[in-house]
Amino acid sequence: MNVSDIISYIEEHFPLSWAESWDNAGFLVGDKSQRITKVLTCLDITDEVVNEAIEKKCEMIVSHHPLIFSGLKRVVASDFSSGIVYKLIKNSISVACYHTNVDAAIDGTNGEFVSRLCEELKISYDLSSIHAKKDDEDPRYLGVGGIITLSEETNLSSLSKCAHKVLRDAGSVDVIRCAGAPETPIKKIAICTGSGFSVVSKVVAGVDCVITGDSKYHETQTLLKRGACLCDCGHHGTEIMFREMMASFLKKKFASLEILPSSSEDSVFWSEMDK
Ligand SMILES: [Zn+2]
Repeated sequence: MNVSDIISYIEEHFPLSWAESWDNAGFLVGDKSQRITKVLTCLDITDEVVNEAIEKKCEMIVSHHPLIFSGLKRVVASDFSSGIVYKLIKNSISVACYHTNVDAAIDGTNGEFVSRLCEELKISYDLSSIHAKKDDEDPRYLGVGGIITLSEETNLSSLSKCAHKVLRDAGSVDVIRCAGAPETPIKKIAICTGSGFSVVSKVVAGVDCVITGDSKYHETQTLLKRGACLCDCGHHGTEIMFREMMASFLKKKFASLEILPSSSEDSVFWSEMDK
């Protein structure tokens, strides 16, 4: 198979039309006709991830966060950001990045996190859209963020303990930060993985808790005043499962393709308490 087989399959399931207008999802570096035998999946294309792809002889990287956001004015080996592009091209590694179009799918990043969390909680759930559904809308389209309705009540303390387990199992050392009383009863949760605080904090009516990453102090105080508690599972923590999710998604279609979730990326944050 070649790069175009892989990107067509992904884009059929996670349409680029579902991406936000500011995003830069899609095929970003390489040659669509390149033959592919090995793919590396990851959250971020860091220098370490590129070195891992070179070492493991992967011809393609599929990441969640786009490698290129704004226009590059040069591609130079010594340059902080474009140096990675240079290294990828030099080593014949193609790159495709699937970001908010995957967030927006019911079985995308939000769906994956919710499924893992509720399995850990041992509670069944329903995941629905924050926005009002249109009649002709694809049932697989969740949109930006989602609403989780648990079939039975839990509390903030249990939620954060289970989320901690989910993060560690997925390979994230992100710290979980909660706001609100530990015994706060929780049945309805607004979720937006990554830096989705501004999205979920707007939908607090009837919501007991908000799950996201990258929350801020004053905004969290306002959230508490409006009656919802917070379980901030980190940006890396809520999205790192992309690498395993995308690997198993590709495996379903391309049985002969070797797909490796990256083992060389860590959160930028760590805690002495958690070592
Ligand atoms: Zn993100």
